[in-house]
Amino acid sequence: MSVFDKFAPIAEVRSRIAATGVDPLGVPIDEIQSATRAIVRGRPIILAGSNNYLGLTFDDDCIAAGVQALRDQGTGTTGSRMANGSYAGHLALEAELAAFYGVEHAIVFSTGYQANLGMLSALAGPRDVVMLDGDCHASIYDGVKLGGAQALRFRHNDPADLDKRLGRLGDRAADTLVVVEGIYSMLGDRAPLAELCDVAHRHGALIYVDEAHSLGICGATGSGVAEAEGVLDRVDFIVGTFSKSLGAAGGYCVSRHAELDMVRYASRPYIFTASPVPSVIASTRAALARLRTSPGLRAQLWRNAERLHEALSAAGFRLGAPPGPVVATMFDSPEQALTFWQGLLDRGVYVNLMLPPATPNGWCLVRASLSAAHSDTQIDHIIEAFIGLATREDDVAAG
Ligand code: PMP
Repeated sequence: MSVFDKFAPIAEVRSRIAATGVDPLGVPIDEIQSATRAIVRGRPIILAGSNNYLGLTFDDDCIAAGVQALRDQGTGTTGSRMANGSYAGHLALEAELAAFYGVEHAIVFSTGYQANLGMLSALAGPRDVVMLDGDCHASIYDGVKLGGAQALRFRHNDPADLDKRLGRLGDRAADTLVVVEGIYSMLGDRAPLAELCDVAHRHGALIYVDEAHSLGICGATGSGVAEAEGVLDRVDFIVGTFSKSLGAAGGYCVSRHAELDMVRYASRPYIFTASPVPSVIASTRAALARLRTSPGLRAQLWRNAERLHEALSAAGFRLGAPPGPVVATMFDSPEQALTFWQGLLDRGVYVNLMLPPATPNGWCLVRASLSAAHSDTQIDHIIEAFIGLATREDDVAAG
């Protein structure tokens, strides 16, 4: 027996995948050229799955802000905020996030993963219940595990099922945190947040929303699904990430509850890790300013998303959700999805291959995500690649 024995099943799957000559988990990006272009194995590729929704990774203002902060404040913070202090940038970004959502309180974390880990482990302890949407992200499950709360699942996007399960908890419903996402990352479908808020609050539970894939995408000012559904003042906690529409790395939570500040003293993933580095904070602040002042980016993202969705849907692909920045195509088997994914790469389009057990309901998905930075020509190229492949391999095109 060895601690390494547990890797045997993984190694087995890895070698089976390697034998196909396709390795979707280890694509080497030789060179990254822009928000939408890269060189992969010496060939130009359109990036169409990188969650770079507003295309801000190469934005001039964001780069300038990051470079300036590197020069002025150095490469790292070399410790946590408790040990090494809060830099002016950390505090400014927290104030800007709170103002953006119209609430009083905000905390910044070093990654989006840590935002969920840090928030959920601090909010929900062994006496509490967390009622999770069945399709929630791994970071949400891990956060609940770290805090030791009882985790219960309700059916994905189903307020009636949530109602039934909260009802069964009786008095304990009042010690319950309901956790959902705004837009779900795999299929790109959207939570019925107004109804979920009604149900949660009717039972005295609090509601927590992860807007990782909806910040910069939904709502009049781009703050997410809570804004789009008119429930910004009713959700209790909103969590998000800097790694998608803001083009950097880091995470946050905003809340109208003053208790959010206590999380700083109760959250191991906040206390025991280095705080975000100054250049990342600076580029994130510049990206948030761009998000707020350039609604045209959001409009362009939606135009691109609608074009791809419409073309694929007309071509008979089975798509996971109504039009939105995530366009997921469903296949009947992992082999079909893998072949299609490789075919797209051969035609110069890089998307995500999502297979069970990482997907809900055992779905085999080829997942594209659109960017405001995709040009019309790039969208045409992506559409041609999908349709060309489906026509060539009729049996592969689902529909
Ligand atoms: N929440 C959701 C819903 C996500 O999809 C992700 C990342 N895919 C995260 C949190 C983690 O964010 P990050 O990559 O910034 O750590």
